[in-house]
Amino acid sequence: MLNKNDVVTVEITDIGVGGEGIGRVDGYTLFIKDAIIGDVVEAKVMKAKKNYGYARMMEIIHPSADRVEPKCAFARKCGGCQIQEMSYERQLAFKEQKIRGNLERIGGFDRGKIDAVMEPVEGMDEPFRYRNKAQFPFGTDKEGNPVTGFYAGRTHDIIANTECILGVEQNREILEIILQYMKENCVAAYDEKSGKGLIRHVLIRYGFTTKEIMVCLVINGTKLPKADRLIKKLTQLEGMTSITLSPNTRRDNVIMGNSYEVLWGQGFITDYIGNVKYQISPLSFYQVNPVQTEKLYGLALEYADLKGTETVWDLYCGIGTISLFLAQKAKQVYGVEIVPQAIEDAKNNAKINEINNAAFYVGKAEEVLPDYYEEYAKTHGGEKARADVIVVDPPRKGCDETLLETIVKMEPEKVVYVSCDSATLARDLKYLCENGYEIRKVRGVDQFPETVHVETVVLLSHKKPDGHINVKVEFGDGEGKVPLDNIAKRAETYKPKERVTYKMIKEYIEAKYGFKVHTAYIAEVKRDLGLPMYDAPNAVEELKQPRKHPTPEKVEAIKDALKHFEVI
Ligand code: SAH
Repeated sequence: MLNKNDVVTVEITDIGVGGEGIGRVDGYTLFIKDAIIGDVVEAKVMKAKKNYGYARMMEIIHPSADRVEPKCAFARKCGGCQIQEMSYERQLAFKEQKIRGNLERIGGFDRGKIDAVMEPVEGMDEPFRYRNKAQFPFGTDKEGNPVTGFYAGRTHDIIANTECILGVEQNREILEIILQYMKENCVAAYDEKSGKGLIRHVLIRYGFTTKEIMVCLVINGTKLPKADRLIKKLTQLEGMTSITLSPNTRRDNVIMGNSYEVLWGQGFITDYIGNVKYQISPLSFYQVNPVQTEKLYGLALEYADLKGTETVWDLYCGIGTISLFLAQKAKQVYGVEIVPQAIEDAKNNAKINEINNAAFYVGKAEEVLPDYYEEYAKTHGGEKARADVIVVDPPRKGCDETLLETIVKMEPEKVVYVSCDSATLARDLKYLCENGYEIRKVRGVDQFPETVHVETVVLLSHKKPDGHINVKVEFGDGEGKVPLDNIAKRAETYKPKERVTYKMIKEYIEAKYGFKVHTAYIAEVKRDLGLPMYDAPNAVEELKQPRKHPTPEKVEAIKDALKHFEVI
C-alpha cells in the first residue's frame, strides 16, 4: 500500500472512465489525472485508500507516443477538457473502448457479438472550435477588476481566459467588449458568496450556417445600467442578431434565469442542421456541436432506413430535431418530450420548415406511449398498436423500463437508440435483447472532442418476422383513427385522482430541472402551502444533517411539480 505524499515513478497502462491515467505500483492502483497510457510519470499520492489512490502528476519522465502538446494553456487547470493531451486518434480509440466495455460488462454481450456490430467512432476532421454555444461566468480578480473565463475543475474559481479553443473565435471579442463595458461603467460582476453584484454569466450562441450571433447576459437583477453603450459596441460585430437579458436572482448553480427580455434585435437566432431550419432562443435546448450533430442524425436516419411509408415515434424529442430530420423520409412522425417549452419550439420548427407530418406531445415517454398502446387496443377491439420505427434519445439515466416494455409489445421492426451515456444504454440494450431484439449496428459519434463524453447510436431489429398482419394505423380524428388528443385528455382527467407520491415529484423535478430534491423539502413546501400531509410521520426525519431549507429555486421547482400533478 502507498501512503499520502509518497512520490513514485509509474507507467500508465490503462485509462479510467473520466479520462484519468491508471498505473500500478506493486499491485496498488493509482489514478493520475492528465497522465495517458504509455506515459512514465513521477506522481505524488494525494489520497490513499486501501486498494487504490489518487496521485498528482509531478513530472513526465517518458512521454507516451500518443501524447500531444495541449493547444490550450489552461488544459490541465480548467474543468472543461479532460483529454487534450491525448492525440485525437487515441481519444477516438478510448471512446470506442468505453462503449465496448459497457456493452460487455453491463450489457453482458460477448466480445464476438460486439466486434460483429461495432463500427468505428465517427470523429471530427478538426476537433477544435466546434461548440456553437458557450457560457462564461463573471467574477472579480484580486485587484477588483472584472474577469471572465472558466471554472477550474470541480471548483467555482474563475480562471481568467477569454480564449477557449472549443468555442468560436468570435467569443473573445464579445467577452472583451463586455469586460470593458463593465470597467468603464462600474458595473460589478456577481459574487456567489455575498449574492451581490450584477453580471453573472454570458451565453453566446453562434449559427454555424447562418453566422448569426446571440448574446444573452444573465444578471442578478432586472435592469442593465447604460445598456445602450454595450449594445452600441456589440452591434458593431458582424452577425450580431440577438441581444437579450435573462434575470436570475436565485442563489444557486443554475446558469439561466426562467425568462429573457430582448434588448436589441430579435429573441432568437436561426441555424440549420442539414436542410432543416431551427429557431433557437436563449432558453432552448440545442445540440452544441452542429457538425457532429448532422452526422449523428444522419446516422439515425441511415439506421432507420425509411421508405416513406413508415410510422415513426421519436421519444425524448427535445425541440424536435431528430423528428424533423426523420419526417422528411417517413409517412408520419410522433415526437414526445417532457418539457412543454421544447414542444412549443418543436411545433414552431415544424411550421417554419413546412413539415406537416410531424406531431408533438408533451409528457413522459414512459406514460404517453403505454397510454397510447392501451387506448389503441380499446378502440380497435383488442388489436395491438404497431409502429415501424421507434427512436429514443433519453437523458443520461436512460429509458424507464415501462417504456421499454411497451416498445417490446409494439414490436417495431427497428429501434434506433441514441444515447449520451453508454452505461445506461448497455443496461437498456440488455433488456431489449432479452425481449425479442437484436443489435445490428453500434457506432459512436464524437460530439465532444477533448472531453471524455461520447454519443452512441444503435440499430436494433426485431429478431423474427412474426405472423402479424402489419395494419397501417392513422392517428387523428375520424373513424378507425387513433385519437391521440383523447389520450392526452384522458391523462388529464385521471391525473388528479392518482395518488401523487414524493417519488413522482422527485422524478418530475429531476427530469425537468436536472437536480434532486429531498423528501423533507417537498414536505416543507407542501406544509407551507397548507396542503394536507399524508406522509409517514418519520418522513421529515430522513434528513440527516441539521434541518436546512430548500433554495428558492427548489421551492419553485417543487411548486411547479405540484402544479403539474394538479395538487395545487
Ligand atoms: N432528441 C433531442 C433531445 C435529446 S436530450 C435532440 O437531439 O435535440 C433528452 C430530452 O429528453 C430532453 O429534451 C429532456 O427534456 C427529455 N426528457 C427527459 N426525461 C423525459 C421523459 N421521461 N419523457 C420524455 N422526455 C424526457
